[in-house]
Amino acid sequence: MEKLIICTVCPRGCHMTVKGDNGVVESVENYSCPRGLEYAKTEFVAPVRILTTLVKIDEKENELLPVRSNKPILKSKIEDCMQVIKTTKASLPIKRYDVIIKNVCDTGVDIVATKDLK
Ligand code: SF4
Repeated sequence: MEKLIICTVCPRGCHMTVKGDNGVVESVENYSCPRGLEYAKTEFVAPVRILTTLVKIDEKENELLPVRSNKPILKSKIEDCMQVIKTTKASLPIKRYDVIIKNVCDTGVDIVATKDLK
């Protein structure tokens, strides 16, 4: 299996080619630095993303709270996490970095507020 991966670690955006099978990397071509090499391997084996979205607020029907994961989440778990987030309602008052959902979907990652709301 061969996969083209565009590195997002820095603005240079190297186009790397990763070859491998069954989650094992055999080779990486066209990377320009060690950070890009690590990124390519992770993207090939188990890609992760920081999840940013909005959560409903108990006391305010017309307002949503911006939230994000405090660590990257496996891309394959994002849909499950979104299902939980969609059914969650935060309660006021909220401070930036308050944990809104602890250990979402047993990922070991918390969903935290990204702004204060009174
Ligand atoms: S491989 Fe290195 S130089 Fe290229 S985009 Fe990634 S971080 Fe930047």
